[in-house]
Amino acid sequence: MTQFDQLGLSQPVLQALDLKGYSTPTPIQEQAIPPVLEGRDLLGIAQTGTGKTAAFMLPAIDRLRASDNRIPFKSCRLLVLAPTRELVQQIAVSAKDYGALAGLKVQSIVGGTSVNKDRNKLHRGTDILIATPGRLLDLIDQKAFNLGSVEVLVLDEADQMLDLGFIHALRRINELVPKERQTLFFSATMPKAIKELVSNYCRNPVQVSVTPESTTAERIDQYIFMVQKDEKQWLLDMILGGQHRVPGEFERVLIFTRTKHGADRVVKKLRQRGIESNAIHGNKSQPQRQRALDEFRRGKTSILIATDVAARGIDIPGVSHVINYELPNVPEQYVHRIGRTARAGKDGIAIAFCGEDERSYLKDIRKVTKAELERLDLPENFRAVVEGEGPTKPEPRGATRVSKKKIKPKPAGASAKKKPKGDAPAPEKPKKPKHQARKGKPNGGKRFGKPGGGRPGGKPGGSRPGGNRNRRGKGGSGSGGGGGGGQGAARRRSPRG
Ligand code: AMP
Repeated sequence: MTQFDQLGLSQPVLQALDLKGYSTPTPIQEQAIPPVLEGRDLLGIAQTGTGKTAAFMLPAIDRLRASDNRIPFKSCRLLVLAPTRELVQQIAVSAKDYGALAGLKVQSIVGGTSVNKDRNKLHRGTDILIATPGRLLDLIDQKAFNLGSVEVLVLDEADQMLDLGFIHALRRINELVPKERQTLFFSATMPKAIKELVSNYCRNPVQVSVTPESTTAERIDQYIFMVQKDEKQWLLDMILGGQHRVPGEFERVLIFTRTKHGADRVVKKLRQRGIESNAIHGNKSQPQRQRALDEFRRGKTSILIATDVAARGIDIPGVSHVINYELPNVPEQYVHRIGRTARAGKDGIAIAFCGEDERSYLKDIRKVTKAELERLDLPENFRAVVEGEGPTKPEPRGATRVSKKKIKPKPAGASAKKKPKGDAPAPEKPKKPKHQARKGKPNGGKRFGKPGGGRPGGKPGGSRPGGNRNRRGKGGSGSGGGGGGGQGAARRRSPRG
């Protein structure tokens, strides 16, 4: 097996890798690093989760070290363009880690923050700049920055930059960077518009392609609930509240909605049921997004609701479940979403809620991923719960739930009230507490995976040691115990056939 020290990287970079505990390169690193070190342009077809940040950052750092130029005034030597603020910040963290011992200065700029501060911090220039295209052009237009000294240019997640409407920005940037430079171009997909960009940006690039769609997805057990659009929130409540068991041990749950409004609504509805979560999307300020991500990363809030754009590229270890509350209308987006679990070689679970109106999206997803999503049954008492007629099963003691300690217990039955129409909040005064949902300690005041925590919806009193993920257990990993339905063991997928 190839090791990093066989790829031609410098000692400082190897030491930085050592500090991070990485010894073996991922396939994209193995393929990309040698030609980039030689100065070749690169076209990498890969998405996050494959180790592509290091695949471009490590050799690019060594290229800078080799040329040994001074930090240019109001400019940079390595420019990395990325579509979202979160991704920019994530790449900046990696750049600092990898470049620490090489003594390179790293800066990042994103929209939604003070442009004056960015102007000031870039006045003296930097070795490495990671930027969203919009903010970069703002500074260029203000004559606060120029691209005249760029030696290496990286476009990361180019397809997403196009989806976000950065095509004109990218064309402009291409005019502003020196012709003599090295370009490393990454995209998860290769539509025609991307091919065109590649031909403008790159010169005879070495092409490396990893197929994370299948390699990542293979490690993800994929399930689906067929559920009415306006009943999804009930299902989510029951799953996260521990009243309906789904495969796997909850650790961190990332929930995707299609819209910002939808994300906020899920947060609000969960809160009404005593379940704390945060949302990240484009209408949130940068500090709000950062805080939400930090809390999720630290496990302070174990549920994060996100839109595709905001979550693109985020790399948070320990995402045990991705729930597609709404299916994406672009099938590739489904692959990106579920790739947030199964990070860095780990396994993960993806659960989709498919409404009647989303069947065509599901068809497209199946076509693209070749994945058979295993169908899970709705809870036995689901209809009764939704219609406010039947009792929800009492939550077993010790069941693990996604929660935040500070939440006050809702009165018994609060979660099982009839769902209000539209956006109106769920009634919280349980005049006739028919149901016993989450009586007492609704969220247990526990996080997932702590010792003594059981599985959501597990048998009353039955608890499993924390972190003991047993979802592949024969016949037992479906949503059996807490009211209804799995269909036996989760099967490993081979989406690419
Ligand atoms: P990326 O695709 O760059 O977002 O990387 C995905 C995750 O894999 C990140 O958490 C990286 O820190 C991690 N990673 C990258 N390269 C390696 C490696 N060679 N060995 C172990 N983990 C890695």
